[in-house]
Amino acid sequence: MTQSGTARREELRAGLRGVRQRLESACDRAGRDASEVTLVVVTKFFPATDVRLLHELEVQHVGESRHQEGQEKHEQCADLGDLTWHFVGQLQRNKAAAVAEWADVVHSVDRARLLAPLAKGAGTAGLDVLVQVNLDPPDASGGSRGGAPPADVVTLATEVGDLSGLRLRGVMGIAPLDGDPAPAFARLAQLATQVREVEPEARWISAGMSGDLEAAVEAGATHVRVGSAILGNRPSGL
Ligand SMILES: *Cc1c(COP(=O)(O)O)cnc(C)c1O
Repeated sequence: MTQSGTARREELRAGLRGVRQRLESACDRAGRDASEVTLVVVTKFFPATDVRLLHELEVQHVGESRHQEGQEKHEQCADLGDLTWHFVGQLQRNKAAAVAEWADVVHSVDRARLLAPLAKGAGTAGLDVLVQVNLDPPDASGGSRGGAPPADVVTLATEVGDLSGLRLRGVMGIAPLDGDPAPAFARLAQLATQVREVEPEARWISAGMSGDLEAAVEAGATHVRVGSAILGNRPSGL
């Protein structure tokens, strides 16, 4: 390995160690077992060489937020058979089928129109999906971070269950940019309970990123999506 590759490996190792320690402490405080929380390392804007280093460091789950970038990296890492690829970004309808061809899990299903293309792209392999809930306050300004209005979530979850090939696993949410993430994650947990009433197998709660993973673990997250705390800062604003 080149010298810079070695340096990058050590950076990633340190980032991972820090995040795993934060997760363990948060689980301790919440009285949860660390094995209940899956770490998805969000590699968007970082190269496939980083995905390979992460795989060597025993990362099993990686996340991408854009179709073309994710598809390319998936292809470049095709020999790493045991990686699970999560799509966490906003999903365009005309790309949904293509995303379902490389992704193993889609976290960002927020409208019924995505379901048929996702099922088509998933084919016989099927696809794990999460319904994304909009956790912004109703009067939020600024760009939407995606997500179905909370009032629509149970209906949408039921519709996922109606399509063969799509396996409803649970819900996903992104805390609002400002303020305390805890109330938003509490609302997400409440919706997760309602979804489980119609689909008992849908036990996943995808919540928490670099800045708020402790609050997410406290609220019952089963999956955290962490990028910058492990890989470093992305180009600004992304
Ligand atoms: C980029 C991204 C993340 C990771 O964010 P960090 O703050 O870098 O940890 C998590 N979830 C989604 C949906 C993202 O787009």
